[in-house]
Amino acid sequence: MARRVSKHLRPARPLLASGFARTEQRRDGAWLVQPMGTGRSAKAYLCPACNQTIAPGAAHVVAWRAEPSIGSSRAVDARRHFHTPCWARWQ
Ligand SMILES: [Zn+2]
Repeated sequence: MARRVSKHLRPARPLLASGFARTEQRRDGAWLVQPMGTGRSAKAYLCPACNQTIAPGAAHVVAWRAEPSIGSSRAVDARRHFHTPCWARWQ
């Protein structure tokens, strides 16, 4: 009988293609982080760290939990938009 390494022992793959989003550890767990370059967004977002608006087209960071929260079927549903320096400070 052949012995095979269980695939369940491997870390979960990111939701998006590798290289597209990176994983960062925060106090409350792992987050996936995707930088958004200038001109990539067409609408304004509210930064949850400083409660200030991120202007349309401004470079910023999109972050979401690596694991879905309870009640959410997909982690991507809970994406948040941060100013780049706010994300760096946010814990
Ligand atoms: Zn901010």
